[in-house]
Amino acid sequence: MVQYVVEWLPRINRIAIVVEGWERVQIESVEGTFLSILGDDGQREDISLPVEVEENVNLPYEFEKGRNDLEYIVKIRSKSSEKYDNLIMSLPDGKWTKEDLCLDPEFSIECLQCKQKIINKDNCRVLNNMPSEFWMELMDYWHCHKPDVGETKFGSYSQYETLKPSENEILIGNSFFQGTPATLKNAVLEKDSNMLLCKNCSVVLGQTTAGPLYKLYKWKLRLRRNGMTYHFPPELDVMLSLISVVKANSCRYALLKSGGKRLLVWIFSFDLGVTLTGNKQLKRSMKLLYTDNDATTNHCIERQNAEELDIQETTFHAFYDGLQRVNALLPSNMKVVGEWSISYVSLVE
Ligand SMILES: [Zn+2]
Ligand SMILES: [Zn+2]
Repeated sequence: MVQYVVEWLPRINRIAIVVEGWERVQIESVEGTFLSILGDDGQREDISLPVEVEENVNLPYEFEKGRNDLEYIVKIRSKSSEKYDNLIMSLPDGKWTKEDLCLDPEFSIECLQCKQKIINKDNCRVLNNMPSEFWMELMDYWHCHKPDVGETKFGSYSQYETLKPSENEILIGNSFFQGTPATLKNAVLEKDSNMLLCKNCSVVLGQTTAGPLYKLYKWKLRLRRNGMTYHFPPELDVMLSLISVVKANSCRYALLKSGGKRLLVWIFSFDLGVTLTGNKQLKRSMKLLYTDNDATTNHCIERQNAEELDIQETTFHAFYDGLQRVNALLPSNMKVVGEWSISYVSLVE
């Protein structure tokens, strides 16, 4: 059994390939995005690279012995890629944004479990993207620490007020939709003054928030658009929050908290192309280091600024399981660094 990981760093045009499990590794051929390697016993593995190798592979590339037994490493130059100028800011802010939904006026947001229509043209006349949660926090901050000057100079916070949607208006967050109770009255039911259930099948779709507003989680829904069905993986909720953290304050550490559990995540690098054992390809992925070790976590958050994120249990577990699944595919030397485990998450399908 051979395990491998291919990491493409677009900024420096380098593809690094680490292979583990054979006594010896040789390159049989490398061309375009195709790499074929041979083991000592005639084993062969065809690997799809995340990007094409440089056009004329003149130098003979050779695998070199790594730090572990049975570990081999080679670094190959990739074709240069010019679309990676504006790295952080070009990462997606969300999925099922206003721009996505406006592509088809007949779009329909449905209950994932029973397919009942929840948001469509019958109850939605206006769509608006919400500013990121971090922008909202900032506004809250200014609200509480209002500068002691006349209203004239700072306006009347009208932008803040308009975050309350009108009837038949849906506000779109990174991973949720928000509307007034009147807008959503035919689709959802309130339970225990806080939970929102699908009116048809009673599955939990979201929660009531201040306003009161109805907040529906995208991962409990599906999108029908132009005859296609789209899903929102729960772990995307966490990934989009991590991107916001990096974009908003270039903070590289996030402390995820969920139901008494803590997971410290170090956003090590982003916008990598990755191929994992079994030719599983991840595009525009983030390389994450993570730990749930209390001592490591405490040691780190005492010294580093870590953004604290409260995460729902469903999305927390989906995210954590995803990290562990990818970690299991990595060669042993690539799985851990010190007290941290290593993983990759992809931002696009
Ligand atoms: Zn339902
Ligand atoms: Zn530390």
